[in-house]
Amino acid sequence: MERMRELIDKIKELNYHYYTLDDPLVSDTEYDALYYELRDLEESEGIILEDSPTQVVGDKVLDKFVKHTHLGRLYSLDKAQSYEEIEAWIQRANRLRDEYNNANSDKLPEIEYVVELKFDGLTINLTYNNGKLINAATRGTGVIGEEILPQVKTIKSIPTNIYYKGLIEVSGEGVMPLSRLKEYNENNEEKLKNARNAAAGALRNLDPKVTRSRHLECYLYNITFMQENIIDSQIDVFNFLKENGFNTYPFLEKVKDFQSLIQVIEKIGTLRKEIDVLTDGVVIKINDFRTRQVLGYTNKFPRWAIAYKFEAEKYTTIIKEVIWNVGRTGKVTPVALLDPVDIDGVTVQRATLNNYDDILRKKVRLGSEVIIRRSNDVIPEILTAIDENLDGTTEIEKPVYCPYCHTKLIYDNVHIYCPNAIDCKPQMSARLTHFASREAMNIEGLSEKTIEKMIEVLDISEIDDLYDLTAEDLYKLEGFKDKRVNNTLESIEKSKSVKLSSFIYALGIPNVGVKTAQDLVEYFKTLENIKNASFEELIKVNDIGDITAKGILDYFNDEHIEYALRKLLDKGIIFEEVDEEKSDELEGLTIVVTGTIEGYNRKEIQDRLKNMGAKVTSQVSNSTDIVLAGKSAGSKLTKARELNIKVYENQELNEFLERLRK
Ligand code: NAD
Repeated sequence: MERMRELIDKIKELNYHYYTLDDPLVSDTEYDALYYELRDLEESEGIILEDSPTQVVGDKVLDKFVKHTHLGRLYSLDKAQSYEEIEAWIQRANRLRDEYNNANSDKLPEIEYVVELKFDGLTINLTYNNGKLINAATRGTGVIGEEILPQVKTIKSIPTNIYYKGLIEVSGEGVMPLSRLKEYNENNEEKLKNARNAAAGALRNLDPKVTRSRHLECYLYNITFMQENIIDSQIDVFNFLKENGFNTYPFLEKVKDFQSLIQVIEKIGTLRKEIDVLTDGVVIKINDFRTRQVLGYTNKFPRWAIAYKFEAEKYTTIIKEVIWNVGRTGKVTPVALLDPVDIDGVTVQRATLNNYDDILRKKVRLGSEVIIRRSNDVIPEILTAIDENLDGTTEIEKPVYCPYCHTKLIYDNVHIYCPNAIDCKPQMSARLTHFASREAMNIEGLSEKTIEKMIEVLDISEIDDLYDLTAEDLYKLEGFKDKRVNNTLESIEKSKSVKLSSFIYALGIPNVGVKTAQDLVEYFKTLENIKNASFEELIKVNDIGDITAKGILDYFNDEHIEYALRKLLDKGIIFEEVDEEKSDELEGLTIVVTGTIEGYNRKEIQDRLKNMGAKVTSQVSNSTDIVLAGKSAGSKLTKARELNIKVYENQELNEFLERLRK
């Protein structure tokens, strides 16, 4: 029981980092090992604790997104870890089919299996009505996902119009092609770790521009909801998808028995190394829909499908050196420099070691012979040291001082940080880029490249140096002529008048994104109040948990930061009135926004409604006062009518929105 509890807590933490933050703490293989250990324990003991992650799909969905209730549930997939487990699954399916056929006259056909590639990206669920794309959402908990329509619209191959006119939801995987990931990493300072994170991070981002810049692709493979009963098999699903203009992956094979299945899996094992999409395995699905219905679902996955993951190949090499990198947040992480080794035609010279604990756990030393594996990550991972003999090896020392600015490092759990966010150079360019970004201080013209040049040529070493720049300084930068110099100075000057929430976001406090910054300002009203807030007060704010609260407290309690903040504010930063746009015209009203509202961004409408005192919810219920129904509003509009709720649509909606805008 103790081990079970431990595993559940650990897996839940990993799930949160992977699904909610898109920033996994460990590799998939390490995660899978813990997950299977828990699953096996549950099976052998016959006990499943109430909050076990083996019983749920994904993790909680973020409040910064509008929630979408899927019309049909979305599931995870059961996994086979070996060919024997696939065989056992086949036997079980056949047994269930035989039992059904013995008891019923409408016999099920001989089982056929469709084998598809298992793409490693982010599930996307698309809603169409009257032939139009009206919504797009992440899988989320399988029941409720996050609305990401503007982001999904940046994927060119997703049709906005289809032939089919009924209400339908189709799902597939949003992926970042490997060639584009490579190109992105060659041209960007902050590298994307792997294609899965790249796709998930791009889609679960509030700025569709970020999504567009990643050039995602989407392969559809599932119909998760359809009112009519016109599809009988997985092959039909693919034909339907293709006829309606969806992008489907060209590889698909139908087989009848275990032996042929294994041949196809081996074929994909070779093929996957040559294609431009990240696949971590295959998905085997029973073709016939009636058989699927008989087999049914568990809480988490269908019994009519199973995934088989490929084992990544392993290589051995020697660790020559370990260097410590400093990231934007000041996190100091180890990278191992290796004796070059050839993996799939790529010469690998570096490998990830996640943190110091990882070094100890894997018994890695300088000079050790180690096993490395390149699975989904761009940089391979060190699995373990293999030589028992320590001769010729030396211990890897835990760093005490920052390798760049020599400030004394701080140890926080397994992580190591350089607290000097003020003049530690590696932190500087990323921090300034963040500071200047649109949702932060909104300083136009300060791209990451320009900032890097400024740091190098003008020796900018603290954020507030930005406000001391003169025309003379800027002329020293390559490509800066009169117009650009003037524009840059003007936008730096303009940024001094800023919304408090944008300023808070600009500071780059750990875990404080745009939404949390807004929540903080809404709750505490002034910077002084936020700085002085206690832990208990902070966790009262919407969505702020223990970790974020502690991060905010530590941030404002650091004396270096306190000093830097004062200097920055002394440059003449003033906060625009936060309450300026507030009115209580809609105080106490519960409003639902549904359908496509042309010419408006749904998030803006919702923010404006909230600003005017309304409560915005995603579900229509008896407590809803008003429904704003745009084009192709579906079930929510029907429900509003059934419940006799006030609906604004067409002309009335336009007038209402116009008032809102004013
Ligand atoms: P999954 O990703 O293993 O399988 C289900 C998903 O596969 C579906 O939701 C779908 O999006 C996708 N898929 C891709 N191609 C498909 C196809 N052809 N047909 C149907 N579905 C297809 O399951 P999951 O529950 O999303 O995630 C579990 C896995 O995620 C783990 O095995 C682990 O590898 C990884 N994970 C890692 C960490 C970590 O910390 N590294 C944490 C949590 C989960």
